[in-house]
Amino acid sequence: MRLILLGPPGAGKGTQAQRIVEKHGIPQLSTGDMLRAAVSAGTEVGKRAKAVMDAGNLVSDEIVNAIVSERIDQPDCARGFILDGYPRTLVQADSVDVMLSAKGMKLDVVIEMQVDDAVLVQRVSGRYTCATCGAGYHDKNHRPKVDGTCDKCGGHEFKRRPDDNAETMTTRLQDYYKKTSPLIGYYHGKGLLKPVDGMAPIDEVTAAIETILSRV
Ligand code: ADP
Ligand code: ZN
Repeated sequence: MRLILLGPPGAGKGTQAQRIVEKHGIPQLSTGDMLRAAVSAGTEVGKRAKAVMDAGNLVSDEIVNAIVSERIDQPDCARGFILDGYPRTLVQADSVDVMLSAKGMKLDVVIEMQVDDAVLVQRVSGRYTCATCGAGYHDKNHRPKVDGTCDKCGGHEFKRRPDDNAETMTTRLQDYYKKTSPLIGYYHGKGLLKPVDGMAPIDEVTAAIETILSRV
């Protein structure tokens, strides 16, 4: 199964992707995570990407497409994968088409997570992840069962993304509506788009997504 999770920052893509990974055993390909890994590793791509990302802007299509194409060739992607936070532009969406058909693959479904702007800002400002395993949490909406201890790995260190604040959210949301939201029409036109109410509680969103996935 090959699917895209589409939606603005804070819509819940990462949260739901983790659950799909656990249930279906296919990897989550988050370009944000792949890029941040390249930045920490200090690779050439990472250095180019760092300055752009810190300002809350989008990394070039060329860099991102190359990272994703290499990743899809890894053996764990043979049964499928979840694209989370990519494609973000129509140019990238076209690249995905070209890339997948060159590999003899096709997309099964695009899930669009719909959430109001005010809620997005509140979600992004409160989110943090486990520094060890990457599990996502939120100050109000999704706290670990035991305060300060990761549910998944028992880790005690957590981190916040430097671009997760109300100021860069304005830029990131404008970017989303200008550059990414046209993908909604693009995938609707291909008959692949399935909207989901991302305002619902996390478990309800998961259930709605499972219903969609059971039909593809
Ligand atoms: P994205 O990957 O789309 O940017 P995340 O999955 O990181 O979004 O979610 C953003 C924040 O909102 C996280 O802290 C997460 O715990 C919280 N969150 C995700 N889905 C929901 C939901 N349905 N209801 C309330 N909070 C949510
Ligand atoms: Zn953890």
